[in-house]
This record gives sequence, C-alpha cells and structure tokens, in this order.
Amino acid sequence: MNKDDLIVISGAGGFIAGSLVRYFQSKGFTRIRAIDKKPLPHWYQRVPGVENLCLDLSDEHNCRLAVEGAAEVYNLAADMGGMGFIEHNRVDCLRSILINTHMIESAYRAGAQRYFYSSSACAYNTGLQKDPAVRALKESDAYPAMAERGYGWEKLLSEMFCQEYTAERGLPTFIARFHNVYGPSGTWDGGREKAPAAMCRKVIEAKDSGRHEITIWGDGSQTRSFMYIDDCTKGIDRIMHCPDLLATPINLGSSELVSINELVGIVEEVAGLTLTRHYDPAAPKGVGGRNSDNTMIKRILSWEPSTSLRDGISKTYRWIEQQYNDRKAGKRTVS
Ligand code: NAD
Repeated sequence: MNKDDLIVISGAGGFIAGSLVRYFQSKGFTRIRAIDKKPLPHWYQRVPGVENLCLDLSDEHNCRLAVEGAAEVYNLAADMGGMGFIEHNRVDCLRSILINTHMIESAYRAGAQRYFYSSSACAYNTGLQKDPAVRALKESDAYPAMAERGYGWEKLLSEMFCQEYTAERGLPTFIARFHNVYGPSGTWDGGREKAPAAMCRKVIEAKDSGRHEITIWGDGSQTRSFMYIDDCTKGIDRIMHCPDLLATPINLGSSELVSINELVGIVEEVAGLTLTRHYDPAAPKGVGGRNSDNTMIKRILSWEPSTSLRDGISKTYRWIEQQYNDRKAGKRTVS
C-alpha cells in the first residue's frame, strides 16, 4: 500500500471502525474515506483530515459511491449491540446482510485490491458454547453450523460471500471473527452497549448515587473473553495484509477467559468499591461460555491480542467516567 492509496472504512461513526480510521491516519495514510449511516454529529469519533460521508450502505447505489477509487475496503458497518440488542432485534441484525452484499459487489466492480469483513464469534456453533467451562473456539468450530440466531447467521453467510468472491471472482478478501471488543469510544449506554462498558457504567452510577448495588444479567457465571480496542485495530491491519489468510476466517480475540462475576470484580477493583450484587435470571445472557482459541493466529501472524483485561478496563473505566460526568454537565457524549 502507498500512503496515498484510498482506504474506505464503513461503520466509521461507530466504535471499532472509528478507531480504525484513527489507527490508519496515525500510520500516515493520507486518503481515508469514512462512512456511516448516522448523521455526522452523532459519530463517536470524527478524525480531522478524513473524508466523512453519511450514507446508508444497505442501498446498492450508496455502496457504489462509497467504494469509488478504493484500494482497500474495510466493511465494519452492521446493526449491532450487546446480548440485549441482538436477542431482541434479530431482523435488524439479519438485514445487515444487505450491507455486505452490496459492499463486496461494489468493491469488486471498483477493482479494489483487498476487502475486509468483520465477522464475529457469534458465527460459531452455539451447541459448543453451553458450558461456562468452555473449550476455546477454533476456526473449524463454525461448521456444522448452528450460529447465534439472527446476528450470527448473517455473519456466517457474509463470510461465505467473501470466500466465494475470492474463489470465483478473484477479489482478495480477509475475514476476522472478533470476540467481544471493548475500550474508549465504544457504546456505553442506551441498550447497545456490551458487558464491559455496561459494567463500568453501572459501577459509576452506583458510586455516583451512593446506592452501592449492581444488577447482573443471568447468574454471572457465564464466561467470555474481551479484547481491547488497540489489539483489534492492530489485528485487522495484520490480517488484511497477510497473504496466508486469503478468504480464511480467523479468530481475533483475547484468550483471557473470565466469568461476568469476575469482570464485575475487576471493574470494582478499578473503581475502588465493592457493591452488593443482585442477579436477573430472566435477562438476556447469551451462551454459557465463549473463548478464543488463538493457536491459528499465533501460528500465522506470530502475534495475538495481549492487553490484559485489568489494564484495558482501567482505561475504559476512566473514559466512561469522563463521559458520564460530561453528560451530567450537559455536554455531547457517545452512547
Ligand atoms: P458499532 O455499532 O459501534 O458500529 C457499527 C456502525 O455501523 C454504527 O455506527 C452504525 O451506524 C453503522 N451502520 C449500521 N448500519 C449501517 C448502514 N446501513 N449503512 C452505514 N452504516 C451503518 O459497532 P462496533 O462494535 O464498532 O462493530 C463494528 C463491526 O464489528 C460490526 O460489523 C460488528 O458486528 C463487528 N463485531 C463487533 C464486536 C464487538 O464486540 N464490538 C464483536 C464481534 C463483531
């Protein structure tokens, strides 16, 4: 890649793609086109010097405009959120298929050199994820398929689009299966936030109100791994530029497995207080356990996400606390 080749990043008004824009700019790329359907004032990050466009990419015509002249296309646009959102909005999640379908065809027609797709650990067979003492998921565990209803099936089918565009039409595609990503500039309130941000916010609210209590969805024994945003952006770059990973879905996640109860413990430690825990067994809680098997990424890239949960939560907590205070002061915030 030349530093003045055009990079197109979709979903850039949101968390990961917004951070990816910043990442490539900090690496010296001078032509970045960032796209999201959200109006510009609602973008989580707007990076100066970047071409920011508000376009709905479920529309084919908009996808053509979006990728015009692109050397590389990173498609991270999707209707998405934490468990509460994806369990209650399966149709919206499935409809994200339109975005990838039109983006990949447009990238192919525009002669893009590389195409990246952000898949998810939700594409894995849910039958393998019932037990909190889960065996980490390796790439071959997506098939036989029984993905997360709605969101996970859309990811699996979009992965297949990428693989077939490479096989039949010669478009180089690269696919990462993200495992829970968290960090500053991510959604932290409003119903789409994921567990780490939700826990930070709940602890901050408890501290602020003086009511030292917290409600945890399920019984808190469900396990997950959480990847810090800086590892995610670095990983996307490495995966996209690794010829051995052509059309090959690969895990991009941390392998530090914790229960939700342990996650709450880490947030409490960072905040410096202990809360009385209540449990809501009726709330959406997702699979029993999910972890990333990083054997393949270590073998192929000699690298894996390595930010400890303690360090990542500490930075995220401080950022959410600032957002919380800004909102109280009537300032505009991400949520
Ligand atoms: P996000 O919600 O912060 O960002 C997604 C962005 O896509 C939003 O700003 C949204 O407005 C935009 N978008 C939705 N529909 C669009 C459309 N029709 N046209 C244009 N833009 C549209 O989510 P995120 O956490 O940054 O996730 C980015 C990608 O990574 C998504 O594909 C998501 O499925 C995937 N992913 C994220 C995680 C995670 O833990 N955050 C885990 C697995 C996979």
